[in-house]
Amino acid sequence: NGESVSGVSPRHRLTVVSGPSGVGKSSVVAELRRLCPDIFLSVSVTTRAPRAGEVDGEHYHFVDRERFRSMVENGELLEHAEFAGNYYGTPRAPVERVLEQGRPAVLEIELKGARQVRAAMPDAQLVMLLPPSWEELVNRLTGRGTERDDAVRARLREAERELQAADEFDARIVNSDVRTAARELLSLVIGRTAVCDDT
Ligand code: 5GP
Repeated sequence: NGESVSGVSPRHRLTVVSGPSGVGKSSVVAELRRLCPDIFLSVSVTTRAPRAGEVDGEHYHFVDRERFRSMVENGELLEHAEFAGNYYGTPRAPVERVLEQGRPAVLEIELKGARQVRAAMPDAQLVMLLPPSWEELVNRLTGRGTERDDAVRARLREAERELQAADEFDARIVNSDVRTAARELLSLVIGRTAVCDDT
């Protein structure tokens, strides 16, 4: 449960951040990294086309479907899922390396992936980011203009499913304000360890 997480040092485990598309996961996680650069953020592989401004190797590793399939077959992904017509997955090796080093690690992934992580790594803590309201989510998702109308509709369908699963998560954070949400997330990710205590 969420309470024990911010209690005594369940140190440096894996934190999964999920939440519907448009809720602001990327902004909150970017702010988290600004607050505490020591936190490792996994870079996923995806078959989705890059958006304007997205850098290969930084926001995602952009791969074609054939390469994605071979990574799945070779067991190179910790989890993977299809989302709104594209494939996404977490490269296994970097996450395992970081956890072995004792550094906190964060995955920003959708619901099906979060469930796979839970099954594979019961120690992982699952955090869901929630919008202040459904209307606000629709506004954000339609207003950011990164997807075509059909893709926005697919994402809203996924969003309904994701929100219905909120109870499965160890903690829920409402993202009304990015900096506040990032601070709440930080306390969940690092618990009361010494890392980033000065923030
Ligand atoms: P987007 O296309 O908006 O970047 O991402 C779509 C959804 O896929 C988001 O909910 C995002 O968190 C999720 N996602 C990104 N990387 C991964 C991953 O490696 N695995 C899974 N399961 N979902 C991911």
